[in-house]
Amino acid sequence: MGYEVLARKWRPAQFDDVVGQAHVTQTLKNAIEANRVAHAYLFVGPRGIGKTTLTRIFAKALNCQKYDAPTTTPCGECNLCREIAAGNSFDVLEIDGASNNGVDQVRDLREQVQFSPASGRFRIFIIDEVHMLTAQAFNALLKTLEEPPPHVKFVFATTEGDKILPTIISRCQRFDLRRINTALIVERLRYICDQEKVNITDDALLAIARGADGGMRDALSALDQLISFKGDTLTEDDVLAVFGLVSREALEALAGHILCGEMGDMLRQVANFDSAGKDLRRLVAELLDHFRNLLVYQHVGETESLDATAEQLQTLAAQAAAADSSRVLRVAELLAESEGRLRHALNVRTLLETALIRCARASTTATVDEVIRRLNAIRTAEPPAATAPAVAPPTSSGMRRQQYFDDPVVKRTMEIFDGDVAGIEE
Ligand SMILES: [Zn+2]
Repeated sequence: MGYEVLARKWRPAQFDDVVGQAHVTQTLKNAIEANRVAHAYLFVGPRGIGKTTLTRIFAKALNCQKYDAPTTTPCGECNLCREIAAGNSFDVLEIDGASNNGVDQVRDLREQVQFSPASGRFRIFIIDEVHMLTAQAFNALLKTLEEPPPHVKFVFATTEGDKILPTIISRCQRFDLRRINTALIVERLRYICDQEKVNITDDALLAIARGADGGMRDALSALDQLISFKGDTLTEDDVLAVFGLVSREALEALAGHILCGEMGDMLRQVANFDSAGKDLRRLVAELLDHFRNLLVYQHVGETESLDATAEQLQTLAAQAAAADSSRVLRVAELLAESEGRLRHALNVRTLLETALIRCARASTTATVDEVIRRLNAIRTAEPPAATAPAVAPPTSSGMRRQQYFDDPVVKRTMEIFDGDVAGIEE
């Protein structure tokens, strides 16, 4: 028997096996249990996150022969379940919208719709990449969608939801599938590697998940490639080399240098990444993710919306405690700006270096907000002093600045900032 690729071997067979799309699987299960399955569904989402897998599970759930009615847990063993899983069920028609996009094909389909199912309960028409249908084809489909025979279900899948005509969308139940959280991908990869007896570290799994960018199929294909290339013992370095990524630790260290304004260390790291052939644009995107996580951590604490593994959480906790959140925000803003600019830059390294220097400066320069906050803290901490000179409303910027620095409370703040106030941006 030939080698079965991991993505196929470990393709989820049940709703509960589908990773990261609970908002969709739960709703479908509820609909089946309540016997309220709609006649048309639209799955929208990026490639490789399980749209086809989900449609097949749904088709099995509707047609599984082991039960008298649609089930939330198809058996996977009856003829129909097996045929559907293999993609050759007579009652489940998978149509590629890209190559069958004309009005003639839709007319064929409309004829097909009239036939009763051969052995299942329903005839299920799955149209993948449905956004590729021509406008005429969509229009030809409308009537059928409006009043399909009771034995017919439609499942449309697309990567581009905004290209579907509103008249089609309004006749479907629409589900948006999400990119899968890296932490969830790591968890699933860990399970599969354990079953497959593959030796691999958590950081290596994280690197695969990072490289796959939220797509489970890409993650599994990468794992396949790595196994055939390196055997069943894989390190983080093996994975990083494939994707051109920097290691988790190096990325976190770089963030640390930015936060502490350690420009020398920062630039040395960039030089190393560059000579090691790392993808610098990717680096900025990942750095931005890190700072985004830092912000979430600082403002909300550890939540589900933090896409991070246990190791990443440790670093986040430490950096979040040490860094001022308004500075983190400024770094994140600067990085977001640079990410856009880097996309079209020819000299990526230079642009990256200047961007990081700006970030490092931003993260060590006191913001006006910060000064005011500290001032207020001092004022409220002191007894209400009738003699405390109030800062007069500014008459001009120079006046304002002078009065400001003459204020004794400001003087004390300056001591706290250790001269940093000179760097205040007006
Ligand atoms: Zn079955």
